[in-house]
Amino acid sequence: MFDYSGFFADRLAALHREQRYRRFRPLSRSAGGFPRATWQPSVGAAHDVVVWCSNDYLGMSQNPRVIAAARAAAAQYGTGAGGTRNISGTHAPLVDLEAELAAAQRREAALVFSSGYVANDATLATLGQQLPGCVFLSDRHNHASMIEGMRRSGARIEVFMHNDAVDLERLLGQLDPALPRIVAFESLYSMDGDLAPLPALVATARRHGALVYVDETHAVGAHGPGGAGLVAAAGLSECVDVVQGGLGKAYGAVGGFITGRASLIDFIRSNAAGFIFTTALPPADAAAALASVRELRVDDALRGRLFDRVASVRRGLAALGVEPRESRSQILPLRIGDSGRCEQLAQRLLADFGLYLQPINYPTVPRGTERLRITPTALHDEAMIAELLSALRHYLPATRAVAA
Ligand code: PLP
Repeated sequence: MFDYSGFFADRLAALHREQRYRRFRPLSRSAGGFPRATWQPSVGAAHDVVVWCSNDYLGMSQNPRVIAAARAAAAQYGTGAGGTRNISGTHAPLVDLEAELAAAQRREAALVFSSGYVANDATLATLGQQLPGCVFLSDRHNHASMIEGMRRSGARIEVFMHNDAVDLERLLGQLDPALPRIVAFESLYSMDGDLAPLPALVATARRHGALVYVDETHAVGAHGPGGAGLVAAAGLSECVDVVQGGLGKAYGAVGGFITGRASLIDFIRSNAAGFIFTTALPPADAAAALASVRELRVDDALRGRLFDRVASVRRGLAALGVEPRESRSQILPLRIGDSGRCEQLAQRLLADFGLYLQPINYPTVPRGTERLRITPTALHDEAMIAELLSALRHYLPATRAVAA
């Protein structure tokens, strides 16, 4: 008989051997205190630490008006949504949130999913399954949720070189012009912090009659007019068929969404299993997201503060000789290039300096490019930045040789 326990134990032992076994660090944030948090080590007393790897780029998860909206919705409607959207989950905060997202993006309609992952997976799987003979053109660095959706659809997938409109043009030129095709990529890549050449990719896709699908998970809220994202900032909203976004990053809540023309959004609403067969987002989460989207449509100050902090950290990293040159955003990767060394550096920074940076290992990034991903937020102050840079200065001589 098959030895299930032996199988699991062997696979876990391999992860340990390769030094990429994932250890979660018990970390509690405290509303009003972020980016400070409390870390509970496996032995000994809890410590105060500064978090440097959160996607809560604007600190909206602890914004008093966002918290008040969540609290009021829970008091008014209760906690869970009580069912799928069809059964009993189409509550007022969710309806209002979809209207607000469509307005923020200046698109006809929006649809909210339980996460950004599910938004990508469900939408791409549905489009690939339903469009007859569909071919995906997928950027080589696309997020796992997009890859999973495209794979599950069973449609043909052609992968183009990262951010390379010439390679995209070559692949599109080889396709039967009668076939439907979808060009899928991110506007802001979450591990390198680099940006897509939006005008070139969009123009190439349009020339070949492709649907354009852009993941803006790390861009919405933090970039573009009123936080509408990088597609809107480039004035390309009319040329992009689907913008996908996350509510759990700069918006500080949870969930994911797509926006686009009404017929496409209604088609996904009517066909996507990952939307239809799951309990709707709870009212408190939808209300929190709604308050956050509303506030970030009119408040540019937080975005300004975020990019001041990013510039400050970037200058400090440059002075240490480790400027993340590929990054054009709030995500500043510090490449270490070895999972063991990356883990050890993260441990030291946490234990000796109270700085929390999560090591990022394979399969999230390719082997040999393991890194610490530094994400300044609008709420880090100059003293915290000085502390981070001084700690890195202490350790970098040991790691400089392998830093990119
Ligand atoms: N798309 C990208 C580019 C991401 O980085 C992530 C998550 O980190 C997702 C989608 C999934 O978003 P969520 O965390 O809301 O599921």
